[in-house]
Amino acid sequence: MSLPPNCKPDQLNIGLMGGTFDPIHIGHLVTAEEARQQFSLDYVIFIPAGLPPHKESKQVTPARHRYLMTTLAVMSNPSFIVSRVEVDKKEPTYTIDTIRYFESRGAPGANLYFITGADAIMEILTWKDYSALIGLCTFIAVSRPEYPLDRLGEITANLYPELTSKIHLLEIPALAISSTFIRKRVALGKTIKYLTPEPVEQYIKKHGLYKK
Ligand code: NAP
Repeated sequence: MSLPPNCKPDQLNIGLMGGTFDPIHIGHLVTAEEARQQFSLDYVIFIPAGLPPHKESKQVTPARHRYLMTTLAVMSNPSFIVSRVEVDKKEPTYTIDTIRYFESRGAPGANLYFITGADAIMEILTWKDYSALIGLCTFIAVSRPEYPLDRLGEITANLYPELTSKIHLLEIPALAISSTFIRKRVALGKTIKYLTPEPVEQYIKKHGLYKK
């Protein structure tokens, strides 16, 4: 990925949308667009996770498929970009290394906002170098309607009060859709039309992804 030529990163607010995206769906796109507007982001950079450290033992679709599906999904939005920074790594990828990459080379001087699921952020205190991470970016924790947002607020306020100003909560009704839900539907032979952009639906069909 690269930011458009002639743009000065040090004057930009940039959203970094981290996720496994297995597969990307409409909920992710609505989230990125809502975050872009609410936080005045100039660009949202989607970062499909390479080998997520917490999922080493689980089956995750190869990174090349997840990267290509993400690219297909964001094609029509000029404010959305996809980064290969994690998918090109052979070893497990940690958010701190990704943020350091953007801070030093990808978008030096920009205000960085890391956007991801609230349940992922609940685990942040277990992430590699979390205290350095918290110093480098602001977090946008995205939640589904039924998810108890208060819990995240309570946990961060009790354990690490300094985190509360660094984590913003964002509830997205469209995120009732999940990647797990889509994978299950494909395995059952059910339609996923309108749950993900059509090119992604076609890609899944063509490559036989998520079949039992
Ligand atoms: P996950 O456990 O697969 O997802 C947790 C929840 O968040 C799921 O409900 C998921 O829904 C949702 N979600 C994930 N990404 C989202 C996004 N960008 N916007 C809205 N909802 C999102 O989490 P993950 O995808 O593996 O990890 C999320 C991010 O945290 C990744 O960038 C990962 O690298 C990072 N992470 C870093 C560390 C570390 O550095 N040690 C540890 C864990 C995670 P869907 O399934 O529908 O997406």
